[in-house]
Amino acid sequence: MTLTALLAVPPAGVPKWAPALEAAAAAEGVPLRLATDPDEVDPAEVEVVIYNPEGPVRDFRVFPNLRAVLSMWAGVETIVGDPTITVPLTRMVEPGLTEGMTDWVCAHALRLHVGLDRHLNLAPDAWPQWHPPLSRHRTVGVLGLGELGADAAAMLARLRFDVAGWSRSPRSVEGVDCRHGPDGLEAVLARSEILVLLLPATPETDSLMDAARLARLPEGAALLNPGRGTLIDDAALLAALDAGRLSHAVLDVFREEPLPPDHPFRRHPKVTVTPHIASVTRPETAAPALAEQLARLHRGEPLRHVVDRARGY
Ligand code: NAP
Repeated sequence: MTLTALLAVPPAGVPKWAPALEAAAAAEGVPLRLATDPDEVDPAEVEVVIYNPEGPVRDFRVFPNLRAVLSMWAGVETIVGDPTITVPLTRMVEPGLTEGMTDWVCAHALRLHVGLDRHLNLAPDAWPQWHPPLSRHRTVGVLGLGELGADAAAMLARLRFDVAGWSRSPRSVEGVDCRHGPDGLEAVLARSEILVLLLPATPETDSLMDAARLARLPEGAALLNPGRGTLIDDAALLAALDAGRLSHAVLDVFREEPLPPDHPFRRHPKVTVTPHIASVTRPETAAPALAEQLARLHRGEPLRHVVDRARGY
């Protein structure tokens, strides 16, 4: 039986996604009919929606025979509470998304660790003598040890950083001091000279990094946030930077995106803004992951990476 899926991406994304998905489904042996325009398919025939928040689908009730929604994004906060989804919702897990995030995290951690900015654009007569500690003497904390956080933490450990990680439930990552629960968070914050936020946006994580928790970080600590903008209390972060308590923040995600041109983060000397590019779902690596999910549906097997709607991620 042919499986009918709707690829719900913005029209500009169809040429790069549709051929990759069709090829990956064929490689998995899935007889796939892939619709790319909701107006050109009978909604009653759609069994799967491959969902992008920037795509055309807003109301899933129009698909009476829907079996699954496969999110193309890892973060599902925009649809996790959607009451029109009554079928399993999966989030994106694919090697390219993970590797890209680990690259971004390690690049910025190393930049802050070796003080790269001190030596960029040096004045012609300047010859400052400063040496960073060895990475083994620098503690990096990673909040969130899921698909992305665990990979980034493991790579930071391979770069010889002293890595501590935190998750909701107990996790084990090679080379990483893994903690969980409220006491675990205190312990990780207390020694994180560089703190990486790779938690999802949920009611529980909203403003997790508030004034009190920012104050738990060591003097002069730096923050990397490629997770979600809601994880941080923006005003508290700005106050900690202005007071000199924190040395720098590299922010990829924001409460409002695109970040407004007049937002204080844009011109703050201790803030680096990257425009939500820490990582991205790539057709060449994500199409096989999506095809594997389609194959599972086709064979009647359970899907992987199903979102826990109550937990919010
Ligand atoms: P994931 O596999 O679901 O992992 C989430 C991690 O956060 C898990 O370790 C989880 O703990 C932990 N966590 C969640 N709620 C928590 C809480 N209340 N207290 C303590 N730990 C908590 O997610 P992922 O694939 O790694 O992605 C993480 C996030 O990265 C996404 O949600 C998205 O917001 C963001 N992201 C950003 C970009 C970008 O370009 N900037 C790209 C992709 C993703 P457990 O292990 O116990 O479940």
